[in-house]
Amino acid sequence: MKANDSKRKVLVTGGTGYIGSHACLSLHEAGFEPVLIDNLCNSSRRVLPRLQELSGQSFTFYEGDIRDRELLRSIFAAHQPWAVMHFAGLKAVGESVAEPERYHANNVEGTESLLQAMAEAGVQRLVFSSSATVYGDPDLVPIAESAPRRTTNPYGQNKLDIEHMLERLAAADERWRIACLRYFNPAGAHASGRLGEDPNGIPNNLMPYISQVAVGRRPQLDVFGDDYDTPDGTGVRDYIHVMDLVEGHVAALEHLQQANGFIPVNLGTGAGLSVLELRAAFAAASGQDIPYRIQPRRPGDIAASWADPSRAKALLGWQAKRNVRELCADAWRWQHNNPQGYDSE
Ligand code: NAD
Ligand code: UDP
Repeated sequence: MKANDSKRKVLVTGGTGYIGSHACLSLHEAGFEPVLIDNLCNSSRRVLPRLQELSGQSFTFYEGDIRDRELLRSIFAAHQPWAVMHFAGLKAVGESVAEPERYHANNVEGTESLLQAMAEAGVQRLVFSSSATVYGDPDLVPIAESAPRRTTNPYGQNKLDIEHMLERLAAADERWRIACLRYFNPAGAHASGRLGEDPNGIPNNLMPYISQVAVGRRPQLDVFGDDYDTPDGTGVRDYIHVMDLVEGHVAALEHLQQANGFIPVNLGTGAGLSVLELRAAFAAASGQDIPYRIQPRRPGDIAASWADPSRAKALLGWQAKRNVRELCADAWRWQHNNPQGYDSE
């Protein structure tokens, strides 16, 4: 038997995506063997050789959709994974408003299909990518897991529907062990500069937009609103380094050895940064000028959101280690070395 055969396998849905690809490395480093499935609707096959280069291993990859039940059945039969990390999903809020049915079919029905395949295969450990979007416009910051859940857009509704589905499942059958991780604002890249965020088209999120201005792909940053009730008037968020985030997933997976039920946990740093503060930090880390102009507020945006991360520390023994300087330096290394993302070479 090869040494690898004894490793615990983890099925990673959305494994070639931004967070999933970093998670594969973190799983590998922790002694798990990731098996990837992705339909490549928002990622590139070119991630795979980079994962191999960084890990020294070639991970098994299935190109396919999580709604393809036959495919899922065959993957579970072939690999008998110990657990599933479920990242696959569509995530653009604006697009979800324009195409709510597509979002529901992909995100909610896709998750139903995955859960059914897991139940059939007797795999009942799951780490799910939820989002701080389930807190809507919070009454209080920092936000604890006990805060009321509400949403203002179809993407957020998908996450909420899935959370409810997972709660029902765990309540009905105590063998389910489900870590429901509510991410704040994932950003940054692997320190090697070989893996990072590579959005299609115009980035919706602040960090990739700033990076593309810094590298000269876009002329300036539009700052959406400077009249919020925040110290400098611009929106405040909790930017968490993607490597901290995925290490939180591995900690959650390990926690599932001893815990069952539905376990919601915030993954954030506990500190908020404004749009202008993040821009300044990125300019300092990259040495690039980042011109900007103030534009009207973006519809649906909230003033401020940052995590109370104390539950993650108490339960998982995890907390974010990397600061904003490191986050910007790593994001810049990735953007600078790969100005066109994975299409750069
Ligand atoms: P991503 O788009 O880079 O990765 C998602 C991956 O899932 C993509 O590679 C895509 O091709 C794949 N995919 C989508 N639908 C699929 C399907 N039906 N079958 C198979 N593969 C499918 O996004 P990401 O930033 O890595 O996000 C991963 C997860 O984390 C998503 O569920 C997202 O909603 C959640 N999340 C992300 C953020 C963020 O800011 N990036 C914040 C909170 C939550
Ligand atoms: N933002 C901005 N310009 C952009 C993108 C985002 O000013 O091009 C602001 C946005 O209004 C919010 C913050 O940056 O205050 C984070 O936005 P993002 O979309 O990255 O995350 P989310 O709003 O989903 O937390």
